[in-house]
Order: sequence, then C-alpha cells, then structure tokens
Amino acid sequence: MQDFIFYAERHGIELLKAGSCQFCGAHVEGGVFECHGNAHRLSEVLNFNNPEHYETRFLSVDAMALQHCELHGPWNNHIHLTRLFLIFNCNISWDYSKTPQLSNIINKYKKDRSEWLTPPPQQQRGKITTSDIVKVVSVDETIVKVREWAAEVFYAFKPHHALVSSIAQMYMDRYYV
Ligand SMILES: [Zn+2]
Repeated sequence: MQDFIFYAERHGIELLKAGSCQFCGAHVEGGVFECHGNAHRLSEVLNFNNPEHYETRFLSVDAMALQHCELHGPWNNHIHLTRLFLIFNCNISWDYSKTPQLSNIINKYKKDRSEWLTPPPQQQRGKITTSDIVKVVSVDETIVKVREWAAEVFYAFKPHHALVSSIAQMYMDRYYV
C-alpha cells in the first residue's frame, strides 16, 4: 500500500476515487490516486541520478507534498516549504546531501514547539497540477514546467514565508557561514 493511502486510513481522511483530485484540483478522472500516478510518471522523464535533474526532482516532491499536505506528518510541510524558500529566495543549489542537513535544523526548531502550517484551501494551492505536468513530454520542457509548478505552490503558501524564512536563516547560519 502506498504511504499516502496508509496515512489517510490512519487519520480518518477519506480519499475520493473519482473526479478531480480533492487536494490539488488536478483535472483527472481517478481522484488523488490518478494524481499520484501522474507524479510518479515524472520518474520516466527525469533521470534522478543526473545532477542536472536534481533540482527538478526536489521541486516536484515539494510541490506535490504541499499540494497534498494533509497526507503526511505536519512537520514535513515545514521541510518542503523551507526547501522551496532556500531554492527560490536564497538561490541554494539543492542536492541529496542537503536534505538531511535541513532535517537536522527542523528537528532543532520543532523542539518545544507545536504548530501547523495552515494550508490554503484545498484545490487552491497553485493552478498548475500533476495533470499539467503529465502533458509535457520533453525533458527540457519538464524542467521548466516543474519549476513553474513549484513556484505557484510556493506563492500559494505566502502567508507562511516569514515563518520559514526564519528556519531558512537557521540553515544558512549553520551550513553557509
Ligand atoms: Zn492532487
């Protein structure tokens, strides 16, 4: 069973099997299940071992996670939004070594804190969704489109930019000074 299905079952979230994706609004017929299938198809277009595709991979994971932010633990949203902040606003060139570093920062940050990044309403988390991403065929176009997708999602979460900027600063102070 895929993780998001397991998580939804454990948290009493009903996953709709028909129509648009209830979370991101993707124009699909099979609901969130087809939406997740669309996202997985990115792996057929991109080579995740190619450093030139790293950023696209991380941006797609972050966009997908934040558009479906009820389907994983709450602190994951801090990680995904902070990473987008670091990529878009701090021009950090992301690679696999940096994600555990960011997790360390979030682990420190969340000690003694209990907060939840209230997301934008469902289906209002960026106009671009997986149904747009799967229409793109070439690698070059995919790289451009995924960046647009992530930028839209990032913008949709603008009310939380100030909060994640403080976490991003903790990251910069720890790893870039
Ligand atoms: Zn979706």
